[in-house]
Amino acid sequence: MSVARINTGVITRFAPSPTGFVHLGNIRTALFNVLLAHKQGGDFLLRIEDTDAERSKNEFTAALMQDMRWLGLNWEQGPDDDTGKPGAYHQSQRQHLYQVHYDSMQESGKVYPCFCSAQRLAVLRKIQLSAGQPPRYDGMCAHLSKDEVEKKLAEGQKSTLRFRVPSATEVTFTDLVRGEQRFASDDIGDFIIRRGDGTPAFFFTNAIDDALMGVTHVLRGDDHLTNTPRQLMLLQALSMREPEYGHISLIVGNDGAPLSKRNGSMGIRDMREAGYLPEAIVNYLSRLGHYYADNSFMSVDGLAAQFDTSHLGKAPAHFDLIQLQHWQKEALNAADDDTVWQWLGEAVHKNVPVDKKDLFLKVIKPNINNPDQGLDWAKVFFGDELTIEDDAQQAIDEAGKEFFGIAARVFAEEADFKTAIKTIGKQTGKKGKQLFWPVRAALTGKVHGPEMSDLSLLLGVEKIVERCKRAG
Ligand code: GLU
Repeated sequence: MSVARINTGVITRFAPSPTGFVHLGNIRTALFNVLLAHKQGGDFLLRIEDTDAERSKNEFTAALMQDMRWLGLNWEQGPDDDTGKPGAYHQSQRQHLYQVHYDSMQESGKVYPCFCSAQRLAVLRKIQLSAGQPPRYDGMCAHLSKDEVEKKLAEGQKSTLRFRVPSATEVTFTDLVRGEQRFASDDIGDFIIRRGDGTPAFFFTNAIDDALMGVTHVLRGDDHLTNTPRQLMLLQALSMREPEYGHISLIVGNDGAPLSKRNGSMGIRDMREAGYLPEAIVNYLSRLGHYYADNSFMSVDGLAAQFDTSHLGKAPAHFDLIQLQHWQKEALNAADDDTVWQWLGEAVHKNVPVDKKDLFLKVIKPNINNPDQGLDWAKVFFGDELTIEDDAQQAIDEAGKEFFGIAARVFAEEADFKTAIKTIGKQTGKKGKQLFWPVRAALTGKVHGPEMSDLSLLLGVEKIVERCKRAG
């Protein structure tokens, strides 16, 4: 899976939890990491964060891998079993590595077992919140003696493992998107790095794996911004490498609320099903929250070459279906005939005669945005039934019976479409829109569409005459 380029040591990553199908929001995070890695001549890494055994599913990992491959977001490092079966890049298979660090931190006293019940913690939280304080652990178990700990363990009490947050220090870092960040350690409170059931906490595995995998840059959603000081403290405590972090703004719908199904978010699978082309999605998403001076349609490599973290916006990025449609048009224009033909699918293939395929593609490509529209045009040209849209019917009615009587006769006698139209114009006294609209409406059932002379070649004289007669 390696690409012929010199690795500069830069490694970015996408670290999804496979608990559902990927949607536009997560895929944009993956994309920005791909673009950053490739811009810098580095590797993009895919890591599956499946520590939540109940909610993580291999089928979601498999689907994620397929979706990313379909979009052209390939990883230089990461799983290569397309069935989603866990391997070295799945956190569920890395417990032994986490254990090493739990042990070393326990030995050095940087962590301690906490026996506080969920109930006690809930009450503590309530009290702090009602006093207007940020909720944080009060350190109840931070100073238990060795004997006390052993006694509780012997009694069979369950414990979590807490990281001892250094007091009265400041965690600072320069965010690639948001600049200088400062967090007071005293606001944070000792936090859990291993749960009562022995499963590792997100803060821990995520930070450890970034270090172990040599990740140099992390672009992720700004919902993770407040996790970063915790993760940096852990890495500092373990003397492990700290990546640079950049927290990207969330995507919001046109109602200003976080992007969800209700306001326009779509799963990548659903988009594929609906006929979106991968290049359209990639071109759109790379500009959603990242500014490109160049508005031309580009490949992933082209987009990477112009990617710049200083062009990532701090404000929420607004999802805009019209923009997505614009890139869909661009992607279709850029696609070759074979790709468009495959994309149109079985139903269209069945409706288009082989000898008309090339012309059909040329004619409809600029006029459609999805395969359903392609099928609609295939039926217009090659089907027997014609559905007349309302505005087309109006144009037909306005032209009147006599107009179509003349049109049918002229088309039957004159093979050259342009000459025929001229003759119809002369004989009916109509010109411009009054001449073209009714003809177009009668022939296609629509008032907009491809060039008239192209239409005529696809329809053939018989259908043209018949449809004029039917309109009259
Ligand atoms: N598994 C985490 C998530 O899906 C990863 C967060 C991160 O990118 O660090 O939210």
